[in-house]
Order: sequence, then structure tokens, then C-alpha cells
Amino acid sequence: MQKLKCFLACVLAGVMAAALPVAADDAGFEAWKQGFRAEALQAGIEPAFLDGVLPQMTLLPQVVASDRKQPEFISTFWDYTARALSPHRIQQGREMMRIYARELAQIEKKYGVQAHYIVAFWGMETNYGSHKGSTDTLQALTTLAYDTRRRAFFTRELIAFLKMMQQEGETGVKGSWAGAFGHFQFMPTTFQAYAADGDGDGKKDIVRSLPDAFSSAGNYLAKMGWDKTTKWGREVRLTRELDWELAHSARALTVREWAAQGVFPAYRDSWPEQAWETKAQLVMPMGVAGPVFLTYPNFKIIMRWNRSELYALAIGLLADKLSGQDLRLRAVPTGETLTPADIRKIQTALKEKGYYEGGVDGQFGSGTRAALRAYQKDNGFSQDGYATQEIINKLVGYNK
Ligand code: CA
Repeated sequence: MQKLKCFLACVLAGVMAAALPVAADDAGFEAWKQGFRAEALQAGIEPAFLDGVLPQMTLLPQVVASDRKQPEFISTFWDYTARALSPHRIQQGREMMRIYARELAQIEKKYGVQAHYIVAFWGMETNYGSHKGSTDTLQALTTLAYDTRRRAFFTRELIAFLKMMQQEGETGVKGSWAGAFGHFQFMPTTFQAYAADGDGDGKKDIVRSLPDAFSSAGNYLAKMGWDKTTKWGREVRLTRELDWELAHSARALTVREWAAQGVFPAYRDSWPEQAWETKAQLVMPMGVAGPVFLTYPNFKIIMRWNRSELYALAIGLLADKLSGQDLRLRAVPTGETLTPADIRKIQTALKEKGYYEGGVDGQFGSGTRAALRAYQKDNGFSQDGYATQEIINKLVGYNK
């Protein structure tokens, strides 16, 4: 029965069965469980507790399917922010700011993180608690720890999750297929390190207690070094061609140095004096022709929460909207898209021309970006590392 159920689930999930950890009576899985048991005991999980939980640790084939899924399109800044900053999300966020004003003011006082950032993370992670995920977290983590792709990472997460279950008496936690749970979708090791008891009942419950969830998010950001005296960054305008060597150098420039390069706030003629010495980084999700941002140290903290640049920009822009700074972006949306197939073509062409030595994987990583910049430099383009249609046409020699 187990095998049949898995077979159907695997087919429904559209997975290659051969690549999967299969049914729960699979000898390989049982052997893995024994090895995991030893590791968990060594990490301090109580034997009686562990032996009670082990039988509940079963596999979810759909989790592996989600983990293996490749995107068809790569989100551009415009389609990502159209989803992330929908009018509904902004309006709901403003409502949440009103409803939880008192709680959020306490968080700001205790952790030094402004309410509009806490609410922005809450909106982005779970749509203000309405989409916390419906996958059994214990089973999701078991599946990913047993699967071979990122075994060490998820074994640590699974052990941290068992510790949480043991300490907090938690059972039946549900979350994302990737093992994140609660209002702010913490991974178990993040929970271990940063969860806080906001309502003072002695328990840390980031799934059911909103004060605990708010405090945990505030505590995480505070521990990462959040600075409430500055914002995340802002949209800027480039008034002339940048010195690209300097723009891409490892040294962080100050706002004053960026201003000397002709970088100014989108809607102002000059920088406020108090911003001059702030270290700032230029972020151009769609190259010089798209929206350009100068980001401050808090932006790096947002990217420690989630490594996606688009996510971090969406958090910053949503926080701005929630704080009442409802500025429209100066940059104008375009319908440009890029697929993994396009990126593979770009990578192949850059390889053929001697600019790129990495893999042809359809992912626009830092290696591809650096190679494209070198190509742009030699061919008289702005070295923004962004593949416009014009560059693709010239590089690949075809019309998409
Ligand atoms: Ca609590």
C-alpha cells in the first residue's frame, strides 16, 4: 500500500521516481533513520523523546518535486514587484499597522526595528499570517535530510526542529515545503538562535503567537545590526556614465562619493547632508535602463534574511509604502523577460568569445554577470552586467 501510494504521489507530482527516496518501508530510509538517530542523540535530543518522534518521520515525495523544480521564467524586477507590492498587500499592510500599532511600537522600542519593516517582512513571508504553509514541517525536513541534494544542511535543520519540539512541546507544526514555518517563515536553526518570547508566557511560539513572532523577527534584525536611524536605501537617478571600475570595486563608497559620480536621489536635486558619510551600494536589477537604487547597510541585513536582491528591494519598497512614503518609482515598467534558455545562450556565446569559463546552467550568477560586464566593456556598452535585448542580439546574433 505504501508503495502504491508513493507511486501515485510521485506521478502526480511529476517526479522521476528513480531520483526519489521512496516508500517509508524502504530499507535505505530505515538505515538512514538509524544513522540520524545516533546523530540526534549526540546533538542532545532525549532518547525517549526521539524514539517517540522517529515513527512520525515519514517521507513526502512532493517535497523533493518542489525542490527539483526549475523555473520557466526568471522574474524581472517589474513582475516580481507587481506581485509582491500588489495594491491589496499594501492596503492590508496599512491595516495591520493600525491594528497592531501598540504591539509594533513595543517591538520598535525593544529591538530598534521600525514597525513598517516588521510588517513588510510579515507581508512578504506569509501575507500577514494568512499563508503560513500547509506542509508538515517534520516530514518536509525529514524528506530533505534524507534526500542527498543538501543532506548536511537539512540534517542540521531537522535536529534544530526536534530540539524545538522537545523544548517547546510543539507538535503538528506546518509550514513551507522547504521547512520554514510560522508568521515569518523561520528555519529551525533561525528559530533556535533568534526566536523570542514576546507575550511572556515562557514559550516561544512563532506559529500561533503574534507577539512571539513579531519579537522573533525584531530580535533577528536587531542581532544582525539593524540601524533604525537610516532606511534601506532609495531609488536614484544616474546623471552621467559611471566610473565602472569604481562602481564595481569591493570597497563600499559613501553617498558623497556616489554623488561625485553623478548619482542623485530620484526626486531630489541633492543628498541630505546627514546622508553623506553613509556607506552605500548601487543595485540595478535591470541594468542602467531600469530602476536604480542606492542601498544602505540595512539592505545587507535584509539580504541575510533572504539572499534574493528582488526580495530585499520589495521589502524596502513595501516598508516605504507602509510608512506613508508612497512614491511612485521614477523608472518606467517594461515587459522584458529572460528565460533560463536565453541565459544558456548568453553563457554559450560568452564562452565561445572567451569571456566565460563557468557552467552553462541557465542561471544568471555572479560569474555570468562579470563575464557579461567584460564583454560590455569591450563593445562600448554600459558595464551594468544586464542582458538587454540589444546585447543579446549582438552577442548571440538572433532575435528572440
Ligand atoms: Ca510566548
